[in-house]
Amino acid sequence: MSKPKIAFYWCASCGGCEEAVVDLAENILKVIEAVEIVFWPVALDFKKKDVEAMPDGSITVSFINGSVRLSEQEEMVHLLRQKSQLVVAFGSCAHLGGIPGLANFWNKETIFHRVYFTTPSTVNPDRVVPQEKVIIENKELTLPAFYDTVRALDQVIEVDYYLPGCAPPPNLVMKAVFAILEGNLPPKGSVLAPNKSLCDDCDRNKTKPEKLTIKEFKRPWEVWLDPEKCFLAQGVICLGPASRTGCEERCISANMPCRGCFGPTDQVYDQGAKFLSALASLIDAKDEKEIEKIVQTIVDPAGTFYQFSLPKSILGRRKLEAIK
Ligand code: SF4
Ligand code: SF4
Repeated sequence: MSKPKIAFYWCASCGGCEEAVVDLAENILKVIEAVEIVFWPVALDFKKKDVEAMPDGSITVSFINGSVRLSEQEEMVHLLRQKSQLVVAFGSCAHLGGIPGLANFWNKETIFHRVYFTTPSTVNPDRVVPQEKVIIENKELTLPAFYDTVRALDQVIEVDYYLPGCAPPPNLVMKAVFAILEGNLPPKGSVLAPNKSLCDDCDRNKTKPEKLTIKEFKRPWEVWLDPEKCFLAQGVICLGPASRTGCEERCISANMPCRGCFGPTDQVYDQGAKFLSALASLIDAKDEKEIEKIVQTIVDPAGTFYQFSLPKSILGRRKLEAIK
């Protein structure tokens, strides 16, 4: 009997999700024994034409990581959708837009201006920027189009399941792979991680005072962090109340607050807004000026609350007209 066929592909991402597959360590042998990998450009020499030659629906499942930022990525995810029975958005960037999605506070023009002209390390006297087409020695060279807006995977193609995390932890990946292979799956559209908040699983939760109040926000490096105490009780922003559990509290156990990479639970649409509402109830002031003073101690609130989820938030992106 032929083995189920699996594909891996990456779009706009850092490569950490590909590492997560390698991090399966000896378990990767179990996966390889159970499946046939038919496409994995980062590790194996398959080409787009190999995928094009496959019959539609012949790939059992495609795991796609990264958000969609380039025309080439858009084209590839449409192709993989056509060839696959199931598509899993693998990792925070495919799930919610991720850190590349923070670029939605800008547009192509402002990003190129910064990257190719004004960063301290840039030397570009001829002011060259990438072009989609150039002719060199009578040959046309092309690059993919760079879009103004970064999108999560399900804003481009239909997605069957989501594996959250930056990157998804090996245990969760193994569980998901075998749930798919055994056909033991939750309803379509599910996030393959528990549907409760990180605070529910966090040992530090019991150290939260009954009435938790905050007078000043600190960044983690500004405080000598107590390794047992809730970060919020130490005045440090921790997105645990607005994040899904399932990561085995990786950051918390390294004495770092949660940044929200698992995204929200099913009950919440906008992770940033959910955290804002939790935070508003903790600010210890009644007077407007004092509230403003406390809020001013939050450095980069938009980038902090929407670090992984801007493209899938109610905001989505900054208005293009506003940037102009
Ligand atoms: S806010 Fe953070 S540290 Fe506090 S209980 Fe929740 S996850 Fe744990
Ligand atoms: S603690 Fe938060 S940021 Fe860290 S891995 Fe878990 S969900 Fe992601």
